[in-house]
Amino acid sequence: MEQVLGYIVTVLLGLCVGSFLNVLIYRIPKGENFVSSRSHCMSCGHELAWYDMFPVLSFVFLRGRCRYCKEKLSVQYPLIEAANGALWGLCFYRYGLSMMGILCAGLLSALIVLAVIDARTMEIPFGINVFIMILAVVKVVSELICSVTKRGMIHSFLYQCAGDEVSPLFKFIFFMGRNDTGHFRSYIDSLIDSEGIGPVHILITHLIGLCAVSGAMLLILLISKGRGIGGGDVKLMAASGLFLGWKLTILSLFLGCIVGSVIHLIRMKVSGAGKVLAMGPYLALGIGVNALFGSDLIFAYVSAVR
Ligand SMILES: [Zn+2]
Repeated sequence: MEQVLGYIVTVLLGLCVGSFLNVLIYRIPKGENFVSSRSHCMSCGHELAWYDMFPVLSFVFLRGRCRYCKEKLSVQYPLIEAANGALWGLCFYRYGLSMMGILCAGLLSALIVLAVIDARTMEIPFGINVFIMILAVVKVVSELICSVTKRGMIHSFLYQCAGDEVSPLFKFIFFMGRNDTGHFRSYIDSLIDSEGIGPVHILITHLIGLCAVSGAMLLILLISKGRGIGGGDVKLMAASGLFLGWKLTILSLFLGCIVGSVIHLIRMKVSGAGKVLAMGPYLALGIGVNALFGSDLIFAYVSAVR
């Protein structure tokens, strides 16, 4: 039951954040302020009321048209909202209500914004890369703390939280009302127990991730004098490399390049698209898949090879 409630809350939150992502996607390339100014219709400029901004539902009820000027709304709005809701649901499925789940949800949302903006403008916004970098630093620091304290501080804190003396509200917020510490503890357990990871190992894994792919891409950027690869792609692979560690970052690059070249070849044949390719969306796809299921992929591969 708590599990179902968890999915519902997560997906609803994801939908709402999805409509904020729409705002970012439209305003970042224009350099508009995305915090203070109110949302408005793109064609008539009419300010939107709260009931015009329900994720997905408003679009369906208004039959895809602006309430005020009846101009058609882009189908991109509900698509982005739905995609973000679904991806947040996947995060909950994969990581539960945990630090990793929250960081992964943030990463996937940032990737959506970045992919759409790059596809349109051939430019990855610097701020999005900074945001991913911040998530990465938080992730590495929390992994380090977990590995250093081992079963000490954090575990005793969690066991305390799971005890009877904690308020029901706290339990609900952090552990979905369960009596054990559920996903959160298993996440920390997994960090400590799997491969017996120590702090040095964690630091090296992520620092190599920071430089491996981005370094190679920077080299191509310098040699091709900026024609082969954009600077935004390099920064993206550096930030997500720090987040994922080197194994999953290399896997992200492979996946992104394979999918990207196949789709682009088809587009060049079918619609005569030019040779210039925005790599951001494909890199984002590779990174997203790996953030969610990368370790499963590696595990499956390793056990298959054995
Ligand atoms: Zn309008």
